Amino acid sequence: MSDSSKELTHPLVVDGWFREVSEEYFPGQAFMLKVEKILHAEKSQFQDILVFQSTDFGNVLVLDGIIQVTERDEFAYQEMITHVPLFGHPNPKKVLVIGGGDGGVLREVVKHECVESATLVEIDDMVIKLSKKYLPNMAKSYTHEKVQVFLQDGFKFLKDCESRLDQDKFDVIITDSSDPDGPAEAFFQQAYFKLLFNALNKDGIVISMASENIWLNINNLKKLKDVCHTVFPVVKTCYCTMPTYTSGQISLMCCGKNADIDVAKPSRKLPAEKERELFKYYNSEIHSASFVLPTWAAQVLDNNS
Ligand code: SAM
Repeated sequence: MSDSSKELTHPLVVDGWFREVSEEYFPGQAFMLKVEKILHAEKSQFQDILVFQSTDFGNVLVLDGIIQVTERDEFAYQEMITHVPLFGHPNPKKVLVIGGGDGGVLREVVKHECVESATLVEIDDMVIKLSKKYLPNMAKSYTHEKVQVFLQDGFKFLKDCESRLDQDKFDVIITDSSDPDGPAEAFFQQAYFKLLFNALNKDGIVISMASENIWLNINNLKKLKDVCHTVFPVVKTCYCTMPTYTSGQISLMCCGKNADIDVAKPSRKLPAEKERELFKYYNSEIHSASFVLPTWAAQVLDNNS
């Protein structure tokens, strides 16, 4: 069902509340947002898409039943998944975003003057169209002169990059994907990280949405970290707080090709005043702090005993 004059419905909106429930990924707990109005509901070629206006978190994009972004807190995620790798890199010029159809990561990437091109590969055109309509503050950089968009499967795009010459490789790759159940399944496996490694320049950094955090299933996070380690010499986990992701935070897997670059420390810093002007969540202190884990989590993820 799509926009029309009659009132829209969706099976996950019951009695005026959107319910995020997953017996597989977060058994025994659920998250709810109060719905003002359903704006769009349809099954695209790739996934179930729901956009609603909430009472307190602005417009919300939900894919396959899982909240992707809300207008109120999206900046935390978009800024951290973008600026940690971009400030971690000494001189990022070519940036690739896999997924990210809402456009929020692109909006952050083009804040870096040193970036010469920002390429986005999104599988589902419907997400882009709906974001332009209902999430305009996120989608505002689609018209930016440095931005290029490919409507394609990100895995296939990276496979086609295998034959690229070194000068066409990327400095930073950001996987801003949805969760492993659905079209993003391949992004959590070793074959994908091998493709990322090959598509990067020698100082290249990648960051991937881990679809997990230390409170949900820390063992899945550890498994993903181990997979990354089979490919990259540098693998570190950072996180950002996000009230609308289950358990209130999301982990990000940050991998580097050059063992001499510590992704947990900014390679470049802006003056504090400039940071405050450009960002609401990111600053150079939170960059390093986001890699510091609570003791029990470090024991599991870093094998610290
Ligand atoms: N911030 C979000 C989160 O972590 O929940 C991610 C948001 S972004 C909307 C995720 C995007 O990844 C979606 O638009 C989805 O269509 C896209 N995506 C999923 N699988 C993909 C694939 N194989 N290739 C390219 N894009 C993909």
